[in-house]
Amino acid sequence: MDQKSRLLRLAAWFRCVVLKRPRNVVHVEFALNIDSERDEADTLEIEMIIDGERLEAFDFGPIDLSELQKAIKCDGVYYIWTCWCGAPGCGGNVNGVSVVHENDHSVWHDMDLKLKYRFDRVQLARALENVTYEARRLITERPKLMWAPETNGRAM
Ligand SMILES: [Zn+2]
Repeated sequence: MDQKSRLLRLAAWFRCVVLKRPRNVVHVEFALNIDSERDEADTLEIEMIIDGERLEAFDFGPIDLSELQKAIKCDGVYYIWTCWCGAPGCGGNVNGVSVVHENDHSVWHDMDLKLKYRFDRVQLARALENVTYEARRLITERPKLMWAPETNGRAM
């Protein structure tokens, strides 16, 4: 993590823990990341980008697509960030993300990293649609790509 990300993280933590306020996300999107550093097959993971800041799988864990789909529909606690193996606890995501919908917004409280986000509900749903579409296209093009976690393949 570079200096700027560290400062951003500290500011986000301060907003959440001290001020108890969520970060107002203006723009959210998801990115597909192909990890080809390992000896095994190339793996495909989803990362979230909020206002240009990439929440890297290395720090947050890769996104669990089925948990994300549920989080967009209903309030609850979801393991949106997981581990490459699919067990969120293995990646340090023990408490999960509490999701509450308030009118047009979706408020996420990441209880592990102590971070809060406030998203536009429609924008979040659209970002999910876009990444799902893009992932389908990529998998068709490169059938040997393996999802990380593997269960994301079933959520398509
Ligand atoms: Zn794991």
